[in-house]
Amino acid sequence: LMLQVARCTKIINPNTDDAKYMINVKQIAKFVVGLGDKVSPTDIEEGMRVGVDRNKYQIQIPLPPKIDPSVTMMTVEEKPDVTYNDVGGCKEQIEKMREVVELPMLHPEKFVKLGIDPPKGVLCYGPPGTGKTLLARAVANRTDACFIRVIGSELVQKYVGEGARMVRELFQMARSKKACIIFFDEVDAIGGARFDDGAGGDNEVQRTMLEIVNQLDGFDARGNIKVLMATNRPDTLDPALLRPGRLDRKVEFGLPDLEGRTQIFKIHTRTMNCERDIRFELLARLCPNATGADIRSVCTEAGMYAIRARRKTVTEKDFLDSVNKVIKGYQKFSATPKYMVYN
Ligand code: ATP
Repeated sequence: LMLQVARCTKIINPNTDDAKYMINVKQIAKFVVGLGDKVSPTDIEEGMRVGVDRNKYQIQIPLPPKIDPSVTMMTVEEKPDVTYNDVGGCKEQIEKMREVVELPMLHPEKFVKLGIDPPKGVLCYGPPGTGKTLLARAVANRTDACFIRVIGSELVQKYVGEGARMVRELFQMARSKKACIIFFDEVDAIGGARFDDGAGGDNEVQRTMLEIVNQLDGFDARGNIKVLMATNRPDTLDPALLRPGRLDRKVEFGLPDLEGRTQIFKIHTRTMNCERDIRFELLARLCPNATGADIRSVCTEAGMYAIRARRKTVTEKDFLDSVNKVIKGYQKFSATPKYMVYN
């Protein structure tokens, strides 16, 4: 059932059996309507936003007040505290992101001199937990940029009817910053290829997506806004997003190799109180298909073993036990094998 957002401007004959509701449907008209089956009169107040059906415009659901995107939808970090040193492995990815995002932000004049436009956006893709968000935050740190993260599925699920407006306000906020990186996570939820089921189905999702394209087209490639998007399902994305002048660069994130995994172990144990000479490379060998996020879990769990044994330092044995528990336990559930099928 597709609903439309309206405002209940007046309740006529309130608290009686023939209460009627005056509603205002944006850009259409005013109507006097009744309530749908699932709404009780006590749910509706004057001035409230409501969802109405498209036939009789009956009120089907009370809606929360207009949402302020800056407090509800996104995480905003003025300058993330992550640096390239906190990203293990990912050498090529770091290099690429520096070239296509960092360089144009720090040295726009190089592009002006050559007369070329730097990319406005980059699509990061690969299995969950491989450092896409982490690296995006590190780039923001390096460029002194504000980092705004929006989760695609939240945009379409939580803010029905508001997606496009949210996107507009998001870019407005980005423009008010000296420099800004907008990170759309799980973008497949909005940018999935458009399909027509004949029922006018995901209109709303499409509008949100079109607004993103609109905004992408609307800002200057030489300016201080860069748009990064992340997905684990690049095959399902709407090609409109990937046209030249939009997200015309792609960076693939894969599972870390042995060296990368060793490095990630070292990164996540930097602040832990570990016994000396732990063989991180050995540990890395024992988790051949682990992502960065998996390795972080292994480290945390090793710490838990030490706590349970009332020790103040974490031993290599703790790590070995933890690898056994975390990695073996994951094998049944991991999302990674699924991703491998996509490729
Ligand atoms: P998703 O698609 O689920 O958002 P992602 O690729 O963005 O996944 P991150 O959020 O970057 O994954 O990773 C989750 C956590 O895992 C990070 O906060 C970090 O602690 C750890 N991690 C992942 N990859 C790395 C890495 N290459 N080096 C160090 N830590 C990592």
